[in-house]
This record gives sequence, structure tokens and C-alpha cells, in this order.
Amino acid sequence: MTDPGMVHVVGAGVSGLAAALALVREGRRVTLHEGAPVAGGRARALPDGTDNGTHALLGANRAALRFLERIGAREGWVEPEPAGLPVLDLESHVARRVALSPLGWGDARKRPEGVTLGSLLALLRLALPGADRSVAQAFAAHPVLLRALVEPLTVAALNTPVQEASARLLGAVLRRLGGRGAARLLVARNGLGPDLVAPALATLACHGAWLRCGERLRGLVQGGGRVQALEFAEMTLPIGPADAVVLALPPWEVARLLPGIPVPRRHAPILNVHFTRVAEGPIRFIGLLGGLAQWVLVRPDGISVTVSAADAEVALTDAEAAARIWPEVREAALRFGLPGDWPVTPPPARAVRERRATPRHGLNPPAAPPRQPLPNLALAGDWTLASLPATLEAAVRSGEAAAAALARAPRQPVAA
Ligand SMILES: Cc1cc2nc3c(=O)[nH]c(=O)nc-3n(C[C@H](O)[C@H](O)[C@H](O)COP(=O)(O)OP(=O)(O)OC[C@H]3O[C@@H](n4cnc5c(N)ncnc54)[C@H](O)[C@@H]3O)c2cc1C
Repeated sequence: MTDPGMVHVVGAGVSGLAAALALVREGRRVTLHEGAPVAGGRARALPDGTDNGTHALLGANRAALRFLERIGAREGWVEPEPAGLPVLDLESHVARRVALSPLGWGDARKRPEGVTLGSLLALLRLALPGADRSVAQAFAAHPVLLRALVEPLTVAALNTPVQEASARLLGAVLRRLGGRGAARLLVARNGLGPDLVAPALATLACHGAWLRCGERLRGLVQGGGRVQALEFAEMTLPIGPADAVVLALPPWEVARLLPGIPVPRRHAPILNVHFTRVAEGPIRFIGLLGGLAQWVLVRPDGISVTVSAADAEVALTDAEAAARIWPEVREAALRFGLPGDWPVTPPPARAVRERRATPRHGLNPPAAPPRQPLPNLALAGDWTLASLPATLEAAVRSGEAAAAALARAPRQPVAA
């Protein structure tokens, strides 16, 4: 009998969970080592069950949706606005529904402001090869479409201000929105805990995978061109000849553990403000233009408001953020006829600041790292794909790519 070896996946964010799932599906034995007290990473439930921040998926995110299918959680992701995204312009006070995909713009009522032949050509040009430039430069001649559609999409998908964001990477996102159903926007019905992390862990447990939380990897012991051991605070874990490692970690951790690997060094924050409120009614998702907040997710058990690319806004106190955002939320709720009371005074709120929510997706990004820097070590993580911004889709794809790289690598079976 031969020992098939153990794969140690370090980091139980979405990329680590996806890598672990792909590995157990191939029959590998897997242990997940997570430094935090809980799994989920940047897509996790806080101790009170609130999401760290609203996470939306698009129909175009095929790998993420397939992952949800495989963990039995696809039903938990619902489309709150099938008739088009409700958008309130806080400057003009115009409230309307907007189709995210050009396929929906045949209906003039759902066409974003500023769609003209010239601005459509500017959108199409994003898909063409050529020197990269900022999104603001690419749409300098089309300020109305920039404000009404391109800037909100850029900030949502790239978490980077348009003055800095790569038009080429935005083009890659927009190209994926073309197919039928690709622009459907989905959110977790009950939250990231019950609709993502818990089902992933349950599925992995069914396949015999172990999760060890509170285990921060301190160092890698290398020798003979391979990883020889993983150093945790409590123990040093030898990596046998048939074992392998997936590092599914954020870029700054990989830079510490494997100096020399190219990693993004600059990050952008996201501020989420969660208002406590219990009210009956469907899940709603509203976009805001011209205010502090960009997206409002209304669930029966609370309202979560997102401010992406929040360089300045993360400095606000909880009370300041709530006081500035609540009037915007209230106006949107009243304009779109959301049920329940919408008092002038903000309900209790708290802010969650993810200071390194994603890399900044500017011009001249660092090269993508090698998927497999050592024969028995592969990298995963939302930042490891050059072709996509750092999102759940990129995290899942990277995890699956790391598992595939190890499957291709020749193993060194040993007699058990
Ligand atoms: C507020 C917010 C909103 C977002 N909204 C969206 C959205 O709407 N749609 C979307 O697609 N994406 C969104 N994202 C991005 C998405 O959350 C990330 O792309 C994805 O979760 C990254 O997963 P990951 O596994 O690559 O990294 P991480 O989630 O960072 O996972 C890395 C894991 O490694 C652990 N770790 C770190 N160091 C060590 C160590 N030394 N030893 C052991 N473990 C360690 C961490 O605790 C973490 O659990 C959002 C992110 C944030 C923060």
C-alpha cells in the first residue's frame, strides 16, 4: 500500500476552500490551516452573524456559481432585482431601474444615462488591445455615462477609483457581461456564513478534510528545492515526500513567506455600515449615485451599505458614517417604496472597515506569480490571476488552478 500523501492548504478563505474542495474531489487527503478563529477570510460572517461586507456575484461568475453548486449552496444565492437594478441619483433625485447588460438597453427606460453612439464605442474600445490607460481617461469624453454606469461598475468590480483604475481590466470584466444571464446580480439570502462558508466546510468535512483554526503559518522550511516543513506557533509540521502545500494567503503573507514572488503591494479599503433593523419584506439591492454610499442591501434582519474604494471614508467614525449614510438609504427606500418604517434618525449601526479589501487595480500591475513556485507548493488567492480583478470568482478559480497544478506535478509516493 502506498501513502497518497496529505495536502496542507494554508488559508481557509474562499480560494483555500475552493482548492480544498477540488483536491478532495480528486481523492486527495486535505488539512486546512487557518490563522483566524474562523474560516472565510475576506468573505466571512462576523461573530454576531453579520457579513463583514456585502458580497454580490454576477451570472458571469461561472466558477464561483459552480463552487456554490458543489457545496449545495447555490439555492441560497438569490437575484433581488430581476427587473433591473434600482438606482437613485442623489443629486438629481431621479429614481429608475437600470439594466447592467447592454442586452437590456433596447428598453430605453432601462438604459443608463449617457448612452450614445460615441459612448458605446468607448465601451467597445475597452475590449481592443492597446496601451492601458485609466478608466477616467478612457471615458473623459463621456462624463455622463462615466458617472451613471462606468464609475459604479469600476468601483464595484475593481475597488479602485476611476482616475487610477485600469481600463484594460475593466474591459475584461465587461466582456464577460455580454452573454445571456451574465449580468444577473445575486446576493446571499441569509449571509456569507450560512450561504457560503458553513456549507463549504460541511462538504469538506463529508469528504474527510480537516480544518484547524487559530493556526497561523509562521514560516516555511525549504530544502532540496522543496518545502520540508510548515512552522506554526505550536508545532513544526514535516512535509513528507508525498505531501504537498497550497498557500491560499493574501499577498502580504506570501511576500513574507516567499520573498521574491511578485505580489501587489498597494491595497484599497472597503467600508461597510450595517444598520440594525427588523422588518418584513423581500431582499432588495439598490444603487446610489452621487452620495457617500454606493450599494444598499436590505434584508429582513438588517441593512448593509457598501462604500468601495473608500480611501477617505474609512477614517469616519461609526457615528459619522451612519449619520451621513442613513439619509441616503432613507431617501432610496422611500423612493422605491420599500416596506417598513424609515425614520429620520438612523437606527443603531456599526461600521466594518476592511483596510486591505483588495489590491488596487491600477496601470502596470505586478506580474502574476508562478502558480507552482516549488514542485510541492502551489499558490492560490484572488490576487494570483492577472486576467480578473480580486473577487470571489478569481479566488475560486485560483484555488482550482492550484489544485490542478499539484495534480499535474509528479508525486513521490512512499511505502506506508
Ligand atoms: C468588504 C468586502 C466586500 C467584497 N465584495 C465582493 C463582492 O461583492 N464580490 C466579489 O466577488 N468579491 C468581493 N470581495 C472580494 C472577496 O471577498 C475576495 O476576493 C475573496 O474573499 C478573497 O479570498 P482569498 O481566499 O483569495 O483571500 P482571503 O479571503 O484573504 O483568505 C486568506 C485566508 O488566509 C488566512 N491567513 C492569513 N495569513 C495566514 C497565515 N499566516 N496562516 C494561516 N492563515 C492565514 C486569512 O485569515 C484568510 O482566512 C469583497 C471583499 C471585501 C473585503
